[in-house]
Amino acid sequence: MSPKKSKSQKNILQAPKGMRDLLDDPFYMKQGFYEKAQEIAEYYGFSGIELPILEHEEIFTKGVGDGTDIVDKEMYSLKTKGGDHLVMRPEGTAAAMRAYIEHGMGALPQPVFIYYDGPFFRHERPQKGRYRQFYQFGLEIIGSPKAVLDAITIQTGYQILKESGKDISVKINTLGDTEVRKEYLRELKSFYKKHKNSISQKDLKRLETNPLRVLDSKEADTIAVNEDAPTLIETLNKESKKHFKQVLEYLDAAHIPYEIDNTLVRGLDYYAHTVFEYVTYSEDGETSLALGGGGRYDGLAKVMGHTKDVPAVGLALGVDRIIEIAKEGSFNPKIRKKPKFFFIQIGYEAKAKAFDIIEIMRKKRYPLKHSLSKNNLGKQLAKAEESGIPYALIFGKKEAIDGTVIVRDMRTRKQKTVDIPKLADYIKTLK
Ligand code: AMP
Repeated sequence: MSPKKSKSQKNILQAPKGMRDLLDDPFYMKQGFYEKAQEIAEYYGFSGIELPILEHEEIFTKGVGDGTDIVDKEMYSLKTKGGDHLVMRPEGTAAAMRAYIEHGMGALPQPVFIYYDGPFFRHERPQKGRYRQFYQFGLEIIGSPKAVLDAITIQTGYQILKESGKDISVKINTLGDTEVRKEYLRELKSFYKKHKNSISQKDLKRLETNPLRVLDSKEADTIAVNEDAPTLIETLNKESKKHFKQVLEYLDAAHIPYEIDNTLVRGLDYYAHTVFEYVTYSEDGETSLALGGGGRYDGLAKVMGHTKDVPAVGLALGVDRIIEIAKEGSFNPKIRKKPKFFFIQIGYEAKAKAFDIIEIMRKKRYPLKHSLSKNNLGKQLAKAEESGIPYALIFGKKEAIDGTVIVRDMRTRKQKTVDIPKLADYIKTLK
């Protein structure tokens, strides 16, 4: 009988659960997506920021809020040797606000537009489209309460998502301002207290920490009670209605299709006014997939311990899901060019000089493919043919001694011998 393997021994040659290598298409599509998203974000006035992967735990316990799944169950936390409690960032908004405060960005002309991207970590149950290490692209506009900024955020995210070639819809709702939320939370709490014997134990606990989440409950008892729960729309004050109306008018003007969804609350604690989500539907329209979401978070800076309120709006797009549903060819990165030349070299003398030729080609940005470890002319020519590459550069012992290269048109099979110093100029004349 073989000795019993411990769990960690068994899985050591596999990435940890919910984490994976991105290779081939997913690698290049993620890169291509970032390039597209950054280009569009820059166009709309955003500037890039690289945020650290680790942050102080309180950034999220305060900023995202106890009582949310992210903070209660999903954070990867660690204690450093120095005794700091850090977490691997589960989201970007609270970290972006930390950066805004730390760098005194409040002294800059307001608002400040920033974007960021990279890996995020949540200890969730992995399934298709849900990973423990996943990738987001985020946008934040910090330092102004204006409704037009909610619309610019939604528009920028919408235009980025449309690059996937899929139909995108926006679901939108308002949570009202801080006053409305306070009043609504009071009403909601007293409503649930009246029904405390009819809702699940789990939701009774949630009621203490985050009553809005009870509205989102998946428990059958609570779902039944929720049918009569007070709605926030009834509590909205004049200011909040005006803000929401303006956002919708801007979206109309930008021709963005949206659907008002009063059940949309989003999991995070710091939202006020606008909340939204981008979804795409399956071909039959039966299932929807959330590709990203965001909202206004005017209350965040204060809950994180800042002395002033800092109104802000932002979003996060789920890169993993976007590249999974994108139409082929949507996100080709600039570094991936279709090769125009296949470089064939045969023998030691040629290989030793091959590096010079590769550098001539690279400096002129001629896309080149080569297999430096191969030595057989026929096999290399067949490979060039098979890959549909229009030209081959052939470089053998004779050419290496003469200081020439043979340029072969793969379609007509015509060849020309060119002096190495004239290679770049000759290539320029090719179609
Ligand atoms: P959130 O920060 O939860 O609002 O997430 C924004 C978007 O990120 C979602 O709409 C998803 O597309 C994506 N996302 C969130 N969590 C995950 C995850 N665990 N795995 C993959 N994508 C995720």
